[in-house]
Amino acid sequence: MCPLDSTQGFIMQFMANFKCNHTAHSVQEYFTTLRTLGFSQEFLREHELVFFPSFLSLQAAKDFAPFGEIGVQNAYPAFNGAFTGEIGAQALESMQVHTILIGHSERRSLLGESQECVAEKFAFFARLGFFIVYCVGEPLSVRQQGEKAVQDYLQAQFAGIDLEATRVSVAYEPIWAIGTGRSAIVQEIAQTHAFLRTLTQSPLLYGGSVNAGNAREILLTPNVNGVLVGSASLDAKSFHTITQSVLL
Ligand code: PEP
Repeated sequence: MCPLDSTQGFIMQFMANFKCNHTAHSVQEYFTTLRTLGFSQEFLREHELVFFPSFLSLQAAKDFAPFGEIGVQNAYPAFNGAFTGEIGAQALESMQVHTILIGHSERRSLLGESQECVAEKFAFFARLGFFIVYCVGEPLSVRQQGEKAVQDYLQAQFAGIDLEATRVSVAYEPIWAIGTGRSAIVQEIAQTHAFLRTLTQSPLLYGGSVNAGNAREILLTPNVNGVLVGSASLDAKSFHTITQSVLL
């Protein structure tokens, strides 16, 4: 059963999105450092670690990650075929990769992925039984209009998405907080996660400038079941500190 409230000691999900960073070599070093820092058996039993390396360091991550799940940041919604430059499900399944990030704001905005395209990917990988980490989040102009505007915006990002179709975690990542060093404040996270909880019982992650200094208060926010970390996950020590903040 999924955790419902971070304050009740249920499992937490800690996810690292390396984006377009790291190489096969540096990923190997990353996991060597993480192995040295270590996780207690109890931590690994109670919490979940997921890493999203780039495609070119996927094999290194599979080979050297001593714990946790390895997922991809994107893939094409086809098994294989004439889709130049894309990665299909056949290649992922051959590497025993069954976890995917879908709907990240950088793909929606920089790569022009429409809601229709995101929903097609979601449906395709859900049919294959992938664990989907589905990202939603509003731009600053929407946040400035208040919580109701945020909720309407997020609601539209669930168009065509069947959250019951496979195992899903939903990551709320306000765009203005991603990579800016300015996390949403706890009240904003609490309010928006309470709204998301009305839509799904799936684990709800927060992402957007999570770091070792703010992770604990974010993790203690009601309806927060974990964090999706970009910049602060690139350094193994920093990500390790974030994961351990749940134990403080
Ligand atoms: C992300 O891109 O998913 C993210 C949360 O990035 P950052 O932690 O750098 O804000």
